[in-house]
Parts: sequence; structure tokens; C-alpha cells
Amino acid sequence: PDVTDLVDRTVPVVADWPEPGVQFRDISPLLADPQAFATVADAMAQATGEVDLVLGVEARGFLFGLAVAERLGVGFVPVRKAGKLPGSTESVSYDLEYGSATIEVPSGAVAPGQRVAVVDDVLATGGTLAATVELARRCGGEVVSAVVLIEIEALGGRAVLDVPLAALRTY
Ligand code: 5GP
Repeated sequence: PDVTDLVDRTVPVVADWPEPGVQFRDISPLLADPQAFATVADAMAQATGEVDLVLGVEARGFLFGLAVAERLGVGFVPVRKAGKLPGSTESVSYDLEYGSATIEVPSGAVAPGQRVAVVDDVLATGGTLAATVELARRCGGEVVSAVVLIEIEALGGRAVLDVPLAALRTY
């Protein structure tokens, strides 16, 4: 099946949400369609390259990242928003349009030298995935690739990533 067409059909645009001017891509119908989801997860898993570990960002990156990791037969690390994890953590802060955000993984979640793919649903400005790449590196990981379902090209996220990016659909 044509994955590009599948994403067009299963990820509708919600105009002016969460604020006026934003075209929000809603992945809920894709998740509700098991054949469509399996097809996109297969395609994302084929795009990572050779990796030992997948990192996915809270919350929608968990959905795709875990499916990719399971297909590859490798582990998955959920990258959490600040304050959710017990014990010792590694963290990276990054700027948002208003304010900043911090993401974390447990210390030792990525072993030094492990080859890592970072996965999310949508690449917009790239801030979230760039911070995830930095977090993986801070743990000693070698980031091999970034893989997303959708890239919003006009927001320039690809240019802020210094790893190869695969997107199943670019708008
Ligand atoms: P960025 O950091 O690249 O600006 O934004 C990407 C993050 O925001 C991702 O974690 C993604 O889940 C979320 N995001 C931004 N725009 C959209 C969108 O249109 N649809 C969905 N589902 N998530 C979005």
C-alpha cells in the first residue's frame, strides 16, 4: 500500500487547534485502524537503520516508538516530561514558543555506545526531537536516525536536526 496516501486518509487536519492558525494533524483515526497503523509502523521500522534502542517522546512518540522497537526486536525507552520519573535522571531543557520544557530518561537507560533511533509522531519546529537527540548523546548513545510519521516542512524542523531524518509524509 502507498503509505503517503494512507497517512492522508487516516490523519485528518483540525484547523485552528490548539490555537488560531495552527493546522493540527490528528493521529487518532490512524491509531483506531489496525491495518493502517501496522502499515505505518512497519514503514517507520524500516526507516531507522541498524539500531540497538528506540527512544520515543511523551506522549505520542510512545505509541509509534514502541511499535517500531517491537518490530526491530530492540528495547524502547520512554522519554518523559520533567518530574515524572523516580530516581536519578538525565535531562535536557529546550525552548518552546512560550517558555521552556524539560525531558528526562532514567540514568543508565541508554548504555554508552548504543545505537539509537529517536521516534515521534510529528516534526514541527524540531525542538522536541533535537532535545531528544541531545539527551541520548548525553547518556553516551550514538544517534543513528530520527523517524517521524509526519514532517511539517514549513516549520523547518529538518534543519535543526543533525541526524538523518525519515518522514513517511511531508506536508
Ligand atoms: P516541535 O518540537 O517539532 O515543534 O513539535 C513537535 C512535538 O509537538 C511533537 O512531540 C508532536 O507530538 C507535537 N505536535 C506538533 N504539531 C503537531 C500536530 O499537528 N499534530 C500532532 N499530533 N502533534 C503535533
